Order: sequence, then C-alpha cells, then structure tokens
Amino acid sequence: MNAFAYYMPTEVFFGRDCVIQQGARLKELGSHALIVTGRSSAKNGALGDVLAALEANGQTATVFDRVMPNPTVACVREGVALLRAAGADFIVAAGGGSPMDAAKAIATLAVQDRPDGEIFAGGYAAEALPMAHIPTTAGTGSEVTPYAILTNDEKQTKTSITSPAMFPRLAFLDGKYMEHLPVASTVNTALDAFSHAVEGMLSRRATPVSDALAMESLRVLYPLLSRTAGALTLAERDGLLYGSMLAGMTIAQSGTTAVHGMGYYLTYFYNIDHGRANGLLLPGALRLCEKKGVDALGRILSACGDTLDGVCSVLDTLLGKREDIPAERLADFARRAMGNKNIRKSAYEPTEEEVLGIYMGAFPGQKS
Ligand code: NAP
Ligand code: ZN
Repeated sequence: MNAFAYYMPTEVFFGRDCVIQQGARLKELGSHALIVTGRSSAKNGALGDVLAALEANGQTATVFDRVMPNPTVACVREGVALLRAAGADFIVAAGGGSPMDAAKAIATLAVQDRPDGEIFAGGYAAEALPMAHIPTTAGTGSEVTPYAILTNDEKQTKTSITSPAMFPRLAFLDGKYMEHLPVASTVNTALDAFSHAVEGMLSRRATPVSDALAMESLRVLYPLLSRTAGALTLAERDGLLYGSMLAGMTIAQSGTTAVHGMGYYLTYFYNIDHGRANGLLLPGALRLCEKKGVDALGRILSACGDTLDGVCSVLDTLLGKREDIPAERLADFARRAMGNKNIRKSAYEPTEEEVLGIYMGAFPGQKS
C-alpha cells in the first residue's frame, strides 16, 4: 500500500433539526456572526434556524445575502467589507456551494488580505476566521473541503483557492432544507456529487481512505441519481446529502481531475451549471478511461453496481437536450483546458485531441 496522509478536521452533525439541536456549539466560534447566504435560505428554512440558534446562544448576527451563483472576487470583497463594518468575528455559511465558497474566501481574506492580482496566486497561510457551514444543496460537499472556487476573470475560468484553515470548523447537514429545491438544481447538484466521487477515484492523488469514501458515496448516490428528476422523499434527500458529503470528503483528499478542469469553461463562457457541466463531460471521460485501461474504472462500476453503458445511459437521460456550442468554441476550450492544473491530476492524463473528443462527445450535434 502506498503511503498517504488523511486530514479532515470538520466536525459534522448530520440529522433532522441538527442546527437547532446542536446550535449551542456555535457559541465556541465567536460573538458576532456574518451569515453568508443566498436569497433562497430565507425560504428553505436554513436562515431562520441559524438566526434562532444564534439568538438562543446570546450571539448577534449580520446577514450578507448577496452571494450569486459562481461567486466573484468583487462579491467576496463586499462580504469582507460588511464583516469588518459589523465587527463580526466568525462566519456561518448557509446555502449551496456558492455561498459556502464565498464564505471561505471571506473568512480567509479577512485575516490575510491580498490585492486582486494575487488572489489566485496560492500560498495562503493556514489562517481564517472560524466557520460553520450548512449546505442547502446536495452536491458540492464544500462543507467538508478546504477549497473555495471563485470566478477568475483574468484567466476566463473558475479557479480554486485553498488552505487547511478553509475547512469549516463545524458542518450541519439536514435534508429538510432541500425539500423544495427545484428539479434542475437537484439533478445538477447530484451530478456534481457523483462526479466528485468518480473523479476522486480517477485522481493521481487518490488514497486508500479517499477511495473508501468515494466507493461508499457511489454506493449511496448512484441508485438515487435516476430518481432526482422526479419527486424525492425526505429520506432520499438525506441520502443525496450524505453521498454528497462523502464525495466532498473524497475530493478534500484527492482533488478533482480533468472533468472539473474542462467543465469550468462551459460554466464561464456558456453559464452551464457547474454540476451539469461535469455530468456532460463524464461519459466521454469514463469511456477514455476504459480505452486506456485505467484501473480505478472497474472499482467505480462495481461501487455503482452497473456497467459503463448503464452509467452512461443514466447520465444521458438526466442530461436531456444539449446546449448548442459551435465546434470551434469547443476546440478553444480544449486548448485552454490543457493549461488547467486539474488535467495533470488525472490518473490518465488526456492529450488535447482526447480532451476535444470528450467535449465533442458531450455536444454530439457539433461537427468539426
Ligand atoms: P449554488 O450556485 O450555490 O446555488 C444554485 C441555485 O440554487 C441558486 O440560485 C440558489 O439560490 C439555489 N438554491 C440553493 N439552495 C436552495 C434550496 N435549498 N432551495 C431552493 N433553491 C436553492 O449551486 P451549487 O451547485 O450548490 O454550488 C455551485 C458552486 O459550488 C460553484 O461555484 C462550484 O464551482 C462550487 N463548488 C465548490 C466545491 C468545493 O469543494 N468548494 C466543490 C464543487 C463545486 P440563492 O442564490 O437564492 O440562494
Ligand atoms: Zn464540483
């Protein structure tokens, strides 16, 4: 067995009403919270539960609910300014991956500021304000990862920033917040989680522990995938959230690979949802792994309990009608993707021609 390290310092509370039942734990984070969220948390119940828990603890809060999907550096700066003006000393993030990632960047830049040109330069010290995260989508697993993914306008893509201090101190997971998540968001976020588990196993940085987490994630997630297009029970919502958390724990160790690196261009230039972008690219990436004899593929399929054709067919049905993207744009994305660090993290590192083949396969209407 190869040597490995394992670090996942987030304390997780999973279960119905855990924000209220375990809310006293927020006391240890500070006295005034910046609640980083999107507008939906006021309707799905997450914001109300956080405010009630803080009030019961005698803590005060300022709400920053202006985080948009695919958060920008400007949005993060706005959050830092509000945090300072309010005198907040900790952060509670409630929302999908966008508010959770914005919260991590705010928590970090609040204590180690950088000019805009150096945000994506890496080398962050392990210092950030303490955070508690409450996911309201079952997809990103950001509540258990040390990454914040922000829009990078200079490189015209999305780029992650990271430090060990970006792991939230606490995470509260309750499927009830997802009861009214629209179908498209449910499908797309589930595709993201599925992609994390699969890519975690296809990563050069996979470890025995990240593989164990990924296989359990696939065992839970895969049977639920085809259910996401219909009405889900609360138990199924919990299952998606659990699988997504395990997939987040996976990529916290392994990182993501070519699929995520390629998907960012679909999101940046065509506003395709992050999870859908990954789902579109997964079948081609998996077929390439089969062609190249990538070892992990057999274990991925056995965790899913299906064949490669079966998995591709489930994905195909969920993805439905494809966007119209001209072949020359896809060729441009393939060129750009070759410079992306995620490509080099893939167990099999695809050539530019193979990357283009995956893009073309995702949008079968296009002719080169
Ligand atoms: P999102 O961008 O956070 O949210 C998408 C939409 O869903 C928003 O319009 C949001 O509305 C709405 N929404 C969220 N929760 C809802 C609920 N419970 N009920 C109804 N509507 C709800 O989407 P996401 O897929 O969760 O996150 C994607 C982001 O996460 C991307 O930026 C991606 O790059 C990043 N990501 C991060 C990691 C990581 O490890 N850090 C991993 C994967 C992906 P409001 O805005 O009004 O709330
Ligand atoms: Zn993702």
